[in-house]
Order: sequence, then C-alpha cells, then structure tokens
Amino acid sequence: GAARGIGAACARAFAEHGARVVLADVLAEPCEATAEAVTRDTGMETLAVEMDVSREADCEALLARCVERFGQCDILLNNAGIIARGSILDASTEDFDRVLAVNLRGPFLLSRAVANHMVERGIHGTIINMSSTNAVVTIPDQLPYATSKGGIAQLTKVMAMALAPHDIRVNAIGPGSIATDMLKTVMEDEAARRTILSRTPLGRAGEPSEVASVAVFLA
Ligand code: NAD
Repeated sequence: GAARGIGAACARAFAEHGARVVLADVLAEPCEATAEAVTRDTGMETLAVEMDVSREADCEALLARCVERFGQCDILLNNAGIIARGSILDASTEDFDRVLAVNLRGPFLLSRAVANHMVERGIHGTIINMSSTNAVVTIPDQLPYATSKGGIAQLTKVMAMALAPHDIRVNAIGPGSIATDMLKTVMEDEAARRTILSRTPLGRAGEPSEVASVAVFLA
C-alpha cells in the first residue's frame, strides 16, 4: 500500500533513513511514480511491484522480488487498507469479505512469508502493522473496517509472542484521522467531518509524514 497516502510517506521516510525500499501496491503506475520520486529525492534505490496483498501468490512473489533485488528483507510494513461503509444492519457480505481480505488476510499472508524468511536466515527484523484507532474505539457504519483492525490488534500480539524468541519485533501503529485519499472519502460528508474534528483535540487531521516518523522509530 505504498503508492500514496501513509504508505508513500513511510516509503519516503524509510529511504531518508537509509533503507532500500520495495514499494508494493495494486495501483501500478502511481506506485512506480512514487518509487521514482523517492529515489530522486533521497538517492536511495527503490523497487516498485504491482501486487494484491489479498493474494497468497502475490505476497510470496513480492518477497521473492525483494530478495532477488536487495538480498533480504529486514522490515515489513503492512499498510495496504480499504474501507467500505456499512453497519450490522446493512453491510454487504461482499464488502465484509473484501475489506477483511485486504486489511487482515493480507498482513497475515505477507507476515507469514516474511517471518519465515527472517527466521530461516536469522534476521533480527521487524514487522509493523498499520492499524487504526478503530481497533479500539469505533464508528457504527464502519463495521468491516473496524472488525479488520480489531483483528490486526490480535494478529500483532500473537505474532509478537511467536517471533520474540527469534528477536523479531512486531508492533502496530494506530493513527487517528490522517489527511489522505481514504479520509477524503469520509470527510466529504459535512456531518462526518464535524464529528471527526469534534473528537480530535488538535482540531486538524494528522499528516502522513507524522505517521511515517512513528514507523521509522519502530523500525
Ligand atoms: P490510501 O487509500 O490513501 O492508501 C492505501 C493504499 O493501499 C493505496 O495506495 C491502495 O492502492 C493500496 N491498496 C489497497 N488495496 C490493496 C491491495 N489489495 N494490495 C495492495 N495495495 C492495496 O489510504 P491511507 O489513508 O494512506 O491508509 C493507509 C493505511 O493506514 C490503511 O491500512 C488504513 O487503514 C490506515 N489508517 C488510515 C487512517 C486515515 O485517517 N487515513 C487512519 C488510521 C489508519
């Protein structure tokens, strides 16, 4: 999920701190453009890969591309995420499955591939999951999303317990409202905008770069 938004900001921040970054996304051209911009601005090598995190074969191929290009994977950021409006009264089965497939199965698939890679090679790496305040508090009409992020909270803990003996750290970041395309779709609704800002003490949405600095710290 590195083509835009928080993922793009994280790719940039990692590169600024000396990482060679593989940027993966379903959006091939924007991902390529972001990778080129990061390389141009930081001087660090990047690789853009078109893939879908909900597909097992794509996740395995992504790790293979990373290893082929850069030798190994030390840091995984599971950032790809989607939303679909719907409460328990009207959420569709299709939306529920789609959101869970990207937001929860994706991080499971990629983490399993990368964790095995790290354990096999004795890499003391780190896995970071982009969670949300929705893992803890919630909005009635965001059932699929909130459920997926609640799952991420437990996925993070259960992975952290299993990987600690291998000196691999697993953490999650739980941003509030961050100014990205995802938030724009919510903020377009004036009532929703007022609600969001009313519960945001700073009175503004956060910037993707502010979340990226947390990802760099955890890495
Ligand atoms: P965004 O929509 O701007 O970016 C998400 C990226 O993920 C896009 O580039 C998209 O193409 C990519 N993506 C979607 N489905 C994919 C798939 N199947 N495989 C690969 N890539 C895929 O959203 P964002 O706001 O930058 O969100 C990034 C992460 O941060 C998400 O996990 C989101 O839940 C989380 N988050 C966002 C906010 C916020 O307010 N924006 C708050 C808390 C958490």
